[in-house]
Formats: sequence, C-alpha cells, structure tokens
Amino acid sequence: MSKRKNIKVLFFAPHADDIEMGAPFMCLEALKLGNNVTEVIMTNDEYGTKRNDFKGERIKRVRIYEMEKAAEVYKKYTSNHIKLIWAGFVDGFLPLNKISLNFVIDIIRKEKPDIIFAPDPWYAIDFHRDHLNTARLVYFALKRLKKSELPKRVFFFYSFKTNISIRIRFKDVKIAIESMSQHKSQISPLHSKLLLFFRRIFLIHKLIKTGAFLVRYRELHFIGGKPEKHVPIKSIRNKLRYCFFFKLSNHPCEELYTPIPEELGLIRK
Ligand SMILES: [Zn+2]
Repeated sequence: MSKRKNIKVLFFAPHADDIEMGAPFMCLEALKLGNNVTEVIMTNDEYGTKRNDFKGERIKRVRIYEMEKAAEVYKKYTSNHIKLIWAGFVDGFLPLNKISLNFVIDIIRKEKPDIIFAPDPWYAIDFHRDHLNTARLVYFALKRLKKSELPKRVFFFYSFKTNISIRIRFKDVKIAIESMSQHKSQISPLHSKLLLFFRRIFLIHKLIKTGAFLVRYRELHFIGGKPEKHVPIKSIRNKLRYCFFFKLSNHPCEELYTPIPEELGLIRK
C-alpha cells in the first residue's frame, strides 16, 4: 500500500469483529499509512449471544459500543480513524438479493475505494451464512460495476486458497489482539491471551519458513474489467481443505437465507 493519504481502503465485515479476526494487520497498516479507511459492517449482530434475554436490540447496542472501542484502539496507535458504516441487516439473515446487492454496489460507487478487503466468496474457511453472503455480495457487486468504477485491488480474507503474502510487523500482533479483545461479548480475556499466543507462534513459524513475518490473502484479479471466475476445486489437497473447514464451521448451507414470498414479488401489495 502506498504512503498516500488519498488512498481509500474499504473493508467489508459480516459482523462487528470480523476485521479484527480476518484482516487486522491490513487495517492497522492502512491507518498507519494515513489512508482513508472505511469499514462496512453488514449486520447488527442481534443474535450475537447465547443469552436469550440479551438478544435483539440489547446485544446490538453492546456490539456497536464494542466496535467503536475496537476502532479507538486502532486510533490510539495510528492517530488515524476508521469510518464505520452500519449496513443494518439482521444478524444471521443477511440476504443475497437485489436489496443487499444494490446496497453494496452503492457503497462502492460512493466510497470509490482503491482497495477492498472482504471474506472469500468461494474458497471460504468459514461457512457462516452472513460471511458467505457478504463475500458473494461484494463479488457480484464487482461483476456489475463498470471498469471505471472498479477498485485497483481486491483481497479476500478467511480463505484457504491464498495467493499473496504480505509482510507485517511482529509488534502489531499485540495491537490486533487488543482491538479484538474490545469485543468483550464475543471473546473472553483467556481466549484473547490464547489468540495472542497462537498468532505469535504462527508468525514465528512463518519467519522460520520464509524469513519474514507474513500473512496471506487471496487477491482477486480482473480480466477485461470483470472479476476472474472461480475455478472448481480440483486438487486433492484443496478438496481436503474444503471438507475440513466445511465440517469445522458447522453452518450448513441448506440453512442459508430463504426469501419470503413478498420479497420474491409473489404477493402483490
Ligand atoms: Zn462473523
């Protein structure tokens, strides 16, 4: 990423903590470079708790507060801020339809990002319906946009088929975890410490293997002004990876959002 202030970086997060989990180092780096950073949070996380008495508006308010706190951590270390946009879709029910697609298209047209980060739509490591739908909405939005409206680069996180390594600073792990730990309704202090420990181990392993602290993403390439098509998973290695993450996620695709007859235009108002 260039050290220019007029670079715009747009992050798409299915839920309030997904950038802290999936691309915290890129968010931090973009802010450090003085880039213009916007995060679109697609859902309000109204079901983001096991406690039924907290579900709905109550946990939604908590999640908004926690997200603002997480953004404050980035600001503390970079003196730059993230613009947060709440899309307002219901947690667990992010639709893959015209309304949500037009929302994503409009955001990209309005924000005019140079770089986009989003979850991987095709080679996902997390099969939560909101994650898949956020990812696919971004992909289909890019497909619909004109060549002149497209960002220069698009990177997917939560991907098992990565194709690009980006160098990060080891000390940034602590900041990333500090930001993640602001989502107190989602992560316990012990869980934060374990995450810090395992992320450090992961990066040290990378350093031994490659000579640098690296994180990996999948870059989407454009061919003739259109995003490249995904190819079926052919190698045994990637098939096994797909099965592993699919089983691990335990979010069966059959339970994906089902549109009601009104939304399908089957019932006239
Ligand atoms: Zn999520």
